[in-house]
Amino acid sequence: MSFSHLGLSDKVIGAIDAAGYKTPTPIQEQAIPHVLARRDVLGIAQTGTGKTAAFVLPMLTMLEKGRARARMPRTLILEPTRELAAQVEEQFDKYGKNHKLNVALIIGGVSFGDQDMKLVRGVDVLIATPGRLLDHSERGRLLLSGVELLIIDEADRMLDMGFIPDIERIGKLVPFTRQTLFFTATMPPEIQRIADNFLHNPVRIEVSKPATAATTITQLQCAVGREGHEKRDTLRRIIRAAENFKNAIIFCNRKREVALLHKSLVSHGFNAVALHGDLDQSARTAALEAFRNGTAKLLIASDVAARGLDIPAVSHVFNFDVPHHPDDYVHRIGRTGRAGLTGTAISLVAPIDAKSVQAIENLMGMPIPWIGEPAKAEAAEATGGEPRPNRRPPGERSSERSGEGRSSRGGRNRGGRDRQPRQDAAPQEQVPLEAKAPVEQPQPHVDQAQPAREQPRHRPDSRHEPKRQPEKSPVRTSQPQPKREPAAEEPDGSHLPAFLLRPVTIKSA
Ligand code: AMP
Repeated sequence: MSFSHLGLSDKVIGAIDAAGYKTPTPIQEQAIPHVLARRDVLGIAQTGTGKTAAFVLPMLTMLEKGRARARMPRTLILEPTRELAAQVEEQFDKYGKNHKLNVALIIGGVSFGDQDMKLVRGVDVLIATPGRLLDHSERGRLLLSGVELLIIDEADRMLDMGFIPDIERIGKLVPFTRQTLFFTATMPPEIQRIADNFLHNPVRIEVSKPATAATTITQLQCAVGREGHEKRDTLRRIIRAAENFKNAIIFCNRKREVALLHKSLVSHGFNAVALHGDLDQSARTAALEAFRNGTAKLLIASDVAARGLDIPAVSHVFNFDVPHHPDDYVHRIGRTGRAGLTGTAISLVAPIDAKSVQAIENLMGMPIPWIGEPAKAEAAEATGGEPRPNRRPPGERSSERSGEGRSSRGGRNRGGRDRQPRQDAAPQEQVPLEAKAPVEQPQPHVDQAQPAREQPRHRPDSRHEPKRQPEKSPVRTSQPQPKREPAAEEPDGSHLPAFLLRPVTIKSA
């Protein structure tokens, strides 16, 4: 199957050729003809399957007819985070290079005035986060009654971030007769309910990301005490000793920890940037750009801020905090070892993390070797320190949401924004990191298991901390693992990665 059989316009085919794509991915092959036939589509697919082009390409074809009117966008794409919205805009630049369409990005953290000017000029494609979209609508600066095509992307993450009430409000502002494309990585009951409300007789397309992305990741864990400064000290030593170090993402469970760790690393001379939901948009953009272009060697991030982002392969992933859910672990380590490159993922494990580590090892189907002595699980029991639950108490907000969302009363949530000083995320003038003397590591290699899906879940607070434990020094590893095959994936867009060719199931929902 080639792109020319899908019904796309010549201009779009020209842009696809220029992008170097030879074959549509399964979701593109299955979805594009239905989108062009004006059917509603329920796409169960996650990032990495080519789902963005599955809606962008037919949209471009359809938008060739007709014109935009002032303040009345013709199409609307809803994204849960500003970064994802910006990524979709980039795809319009790439695939729409032969078109003269007005594409507007309406996201929080940037000036209303510029966005308003774009809306006045007339918008063919409006890409928005729900909160800022409603802000414009409530001010009377935006009319959604002209929307012919609505796309709800990453619906399960919208749920995770508390956006569903906003999505439902937006649903009442767009015409009943519009076409709707609905994408989600998972289908929990709440998402099924929203899909049922939004879609009319949809075509259901389900693609899975394979569990066999051919990559090589060395996984290790290192015991640490519970005290923050001890963990930070251990992390610094591990980074400095890392072999083949190029750059790293360091994951923390909470954005407060991200900010703290970032400050600490910068003060110790590392060129690091931070990414979390409390940063304003310019700081987030600057941080990502600095990491992408190599100015910054370390990106300290929370899961929610980093999810779905197109961050190039990194040599190392560090889990400063062990994630509470094993799927998050798989997702995090999948940031390294991409496209056939080798990568290393090292987790700092405190005694309280024992059960989380057990769940991770169960999911991975293997023990993760220790650098040095294993963490002592009994300390967690001594303090009554059960691993924290996966769900927040009712009514408690997601820690990431405060930077993006709206209050439960429907008002704008301003409290979370701009709390973080700008300089925290700006690229720092620091000594570049270099790989130094190695820790004694046999470097066991293991398969990378792709995350089966990016599951929404609530982030717990840290309440039950264990008693302080003496820190173990990272000197010894154990249990070498078998090495796996090299990658079949190509790093550039000129070659279709094998995983994108997995089969789909399609049926009417
Ligand atoms: P997405 O799932 O939309 O985030 O896309 C994942 C990656 O696959 C992006 O970097 C796209 O540029 C790339 N991609 C999308 N469609 C194709 C295709 N047909 N052939 C090769 N690469 C593609």
